[in-house]
Amino acid sequence: MPNYQNLKIYNSLTGNKEKFESITPGNIGMYVCGPTVYNKVHLGNCRTFISFDLVFRYLKYLDYKVRYVRNITDAGHLENDAEEGEDRIAKKARLESLEPMEIVQKYTVDFHQILATFNNHPPSIEPTATGHIIEQIEIVKSIIDKGLAYESNGSVYFDVLKYNETEKYGILSGRKVEELIANTRDLTGQSEKKNPQDFALWKKAEPQHIMRWPSPWGIGFPGWHLECTAMSTKYLGDRFDIHGGGMDLKFPHHECEIAQGKASTGEEPVNFWMHANMLTLNGKKMAKSTGNNILPEEIFTGNNPNLSKAYSPAVARFFILQAHYRSVLDFSDEALQAAEKGFQRLMDALKSLSDLTHSTTTTSFDLDLFEQRCFDAMNDDFNSPILIAHLFDAVKFINSVKAGKATLRQDDAQRLEAIMSDFIFEVMGIHKHQSDIEQSPSGETKVSELVEMLIDLRNKARANKDFKTSDEIRDQLLAMGIELKDAKGKTEYSIKS
Ligand code: AMP
Ligand code: ZN
Repeated sequence: MPNYQNLKIYNSLTGNKEKFESITPGNIGMYVCGPTVYNKVHLGNCRTFISFDLVFRYLKYLDYKVRYVRNITDAGHLENDAEEGEDRIAKKARLESLEPMEIVQKYTVDFHQILATFNNHPPSIEPTATGHIIEQIEIVKSIIDKGLAYESNGSVYFDVLKYNETEKYGILSGRKVEELIANTRDLTGQSEKKNPQDFALWKKAEPQHIMRWPSPWGIGFPGWHLECTAMSTKYLGDRFDIHGGGMDLKFPHHECEIAQGKASTGEEPVNFWMHANMLTLNGKKMAKSTGNNILPEEIFTGNNPNLSKAYSPAVARFFILQAHYRSVLDFSDEALQAAEKGFQRLMDALKSLSDLTHSTTTTSFDLDLFEQRCFDAMNDDFNSPILIAHLFDAVKFINSVKAGKATLRQDDAQRLEAIMSDFIFEVMGIHKHQSDIEQSPSGETKVSELVEMLIDLRNKARANKDFKTSDEIRDQLLAMGIELKDAKGKTEYSIKS
């Protein structure tokens, strides 16, 4: 692959786009923080996992051998990302009258199904926090041995000030320890810490805390930050190539991971830190806790007040990839509609390539340059919106060939189809089957034309006060899963799947 050595990645640790070189030539170790499985994933969560699926796919497309580790957080993540309080999973178990591991199973299955619907590749390893308690205890011991953690009342805390004497706490987020001290209020329970900014590596389990394990410090449970250090280093080594996650995990989660890794092994744990930006709804971050979110299934059914109709997973994925992973993306029905139109144009052009009238002599499009530009876009920190812009240059060209204003030789048509298909299906991970069946231009256009025709007939019937016919049209369409909505003198429809 000629572009192997040209990849640049924005490294959150340095704030620069840097030339990417893997620690072991040809091999890449990548860790991404996975979900806390206490609830259904919303589209914001999916955006982060789709962003890293794009990264995973492109690295593989460049012929790297990638070991992609993404964990499942099934213990230790407390409410409000706090150091005190109830475990999110245990709380949900209490609310649903289930075992914590039933909650974990239920939402892990849901997570896998949703990501498969979005056509994400599964990671190479998907470890769970509860499956790595021993590894976590070993890391706590080693940090205590180095004098950088201390036991207090059955819990173990990381000594941030001590660490900061020789290392730099705040290196990733740019936060200063002095400011953290000034900003940290002395909440109850923090009194067992030497300093309020110290964070828990291991917590003593109070009697009501049901997720608990034995340790050298008594019965307890691991700190949330520690799990990722244990699972990443176990499968990728003390130092590995790429660590990813959502922007909101930069501090404290990833900052603490760096401190733990350095304290226990002496190594900087990660070469490239990558952070995916947030999906917003009405300008605010999509989040489970605030209820400001949209679930993937609501998009696929159109069943949400923010939506006028249903959208296929391929369109939702295309919508997400139209933004660069480091930009904030705001969700709206209009934006999805626009994405759907663009997606359709792209698919129509691609499919029409084989039916074009080909020239026997010339092709008025520089295919080498087109291919190089697609690679350049992806090599520039996985810039999918620029890649899509180049794909639309090809669409324009194909449409000019159709209009007899440009020429394309048959062998070049095949090559163009191969390049476009590779970037659309392999790299961007757009669902091939959805582009073939559900998105087939003739099928979808015909359905929409038919429904519009029936809406027209219904309006005529209503104008003639023939309500029997107008209701019949509405009811029969509804029985087929097509719902009509009358608003502001217009009738719109949505298709339920
Ligand atoms: P959680 O299960 O809350 O730990 O979140 C799983 C992943 O989703 C993390 O990498 C978060 O950073 C990410 N995430 C949460 N909310 C959003 C959002 N609104 N947009 C994009 N990513 C998000
Ligand atoms: Zn993590």
